[in-house]
Amino acid sequence: MIYLDYSATTPVNNDVLDTFNKVSLNYIGNANSFHKLGLDSKKLLDEATNQIGTILKIDSKEIIYTSGATESNNLAIKGICSFYNNRGNHIITTKLEHSSVIEPIKYLEKKGFLVSYVNLLPNGMIDINHLKSLITKDTLLVSINHVNSELGIKQPVEEIGQILKAKKTIIFHVDGTQALGKINIDLANIDLYSFSAHKFYGLKGIGCLIKKRNIKMEPLFHGGRSINEYRSGTPMLPLVVSMAKALRLVCNDVENNYKYILNLNQKIKKNLMKYKNIDINSNDECLPHILNISIKGIKPETFIRAMEKHNIYISTKSACSNLDQASAALLALNKDALNASSSIRISLSHLTTNKEIESFLTFFDKEYNELKFIEKEQ
Ligand code: PMP
Repeated sequence: MIYLDYSATTPVNNDVLDTFNKVSLNYIGNANSFHKLGLDSKKLLDEATNQIGTILKIDSKEIIYTSGATESNNLAIKGICSFYNNRGNHIITTKLEHSSVIEPIKYLEKKGFLVSYVNLLPNGMIDINHLKSLITKDTLLVSINHVNSELGIKQPVEEIGQILKAKKTIIFHVDGTQALGKINIDLANIDLYSFSAHKFYGLKGIGCLIKKRNIKMEPLFHGGRSINEYRSGTPMLPLVVSMAKALRLVCNDVENNYKYILNLNQKIKKNLMKYKNIDINSNDECLPHILNISIKGIKPETFIRAMEKHNIYISTKSACSNLDQASAALLALNKDALNASSSIRISLSHLTTNKEIESFLTFFDKEYNELKFIEKEQ
C-alpha cells in the first residue's frame, strides 16, 4: 500500500499506541476521584499537560482538551462570540478556512453577527492591508488558519498576531490543525490555537484548544467541571498521555522531516510538470506536505479510483469538504472553475519513502495515459 493522504489523517505511531494501551490498563482511576487511583491518574494527567505546555512554550493552564479540531474550532468561535457578544458583533476570516471554522461562523452570521472575508493575494496569502482596513470598533474575532488543508498555504499568523495585539478588544483564533508537527510554531501573539492529535501520528478522538489565560469563553458543553470549566466530561487520560507522546515525537524532528518532505515534493512536482494537462495548484507559499494538482479532462474521483486499483491512496480536496462542490479555496485564488472542481491532493509524510514516490509516479503515468485515452474515446 502507498498512502499519500496524510493530511486527512496519519497512521498512529506504535509507541503512541503502546502508551495509550499501558495508560488504559494501568491507570483505571478517574483523575477527578479523591482515592489513590484517582490521584495517580491526576498526577499523570498533570505531567502530560505540563509536557504539552513545555513543548508549545505555553502555560499548561492554557490547554483545553477536546475531541479534536472540529470541537476546538467550534468552542473557540462560538465560545468567544457568545461570551463577549456585548463587545462587538464583527468576525473577520478568510475563504481558505476548513468547514469546522466556516460553518460555526455561518451559524453566528444567521444569529446576527457580521462576517468579513479578507482578500487573498494571487499567491493565496492574505492581504494584510485589507485585513487592517476591515477592522472596526465592533470587530470581536479574527479567525485565520495557519496552513490551509487543501493547498497547504501557510499564513503569517505570527505577524498577524503582532498587528492584532495592538487592538486590545480583538481576539485572534488560529486553526493550526495542518501546521502543528510540520513547522515550528510560536503562540506568543495568538489567543486561541486549535489542533487534532491524529494529524501528527496520535490517536483519533483527541485534540486541543489552547486559550490564553486572560481570555474568557462560554463552554459548548454544560456539565461538571472536569479538567477545567471549559470542557466537561471525565478526563480522557490515555488519549491525553498518548497525545503528549505523539507531540513530543513529532516536534523532535520538525526540521529534518521538513527537508526530507520538501525533497519528495520537488521530485513529484518535477515529474508532474511535464504533463500538458496538469496544473500544479500548490505554490511556493505552501508547505511541501501538501501537493494539490488538477488534471484537466479527468474527473478527480475517476483518477483516485484508478490509483486505488494499485493500492495507492490520494484524495480529492480535503476529507471533510463536499465532493460535489468546486473547491472554495481554489476559487478564492481565482483558479478557473475547471481547476477548482478537478483538484487532487497528494499529501506526504516523513514516513513516505522515495521508492513509494517512484511507484506512485509510474502508476500515475500509466493511469494518466490510459484514462485520457478512455475519456477521448467517449
Ligand atoms: N481544521 C483543519 C485545517 C483540518 O484539516 C481539519 C481536518 N481535516 C480540521 C480542522 C478538523 O479536524 P478533526 O476532523 O480532527 O476534528
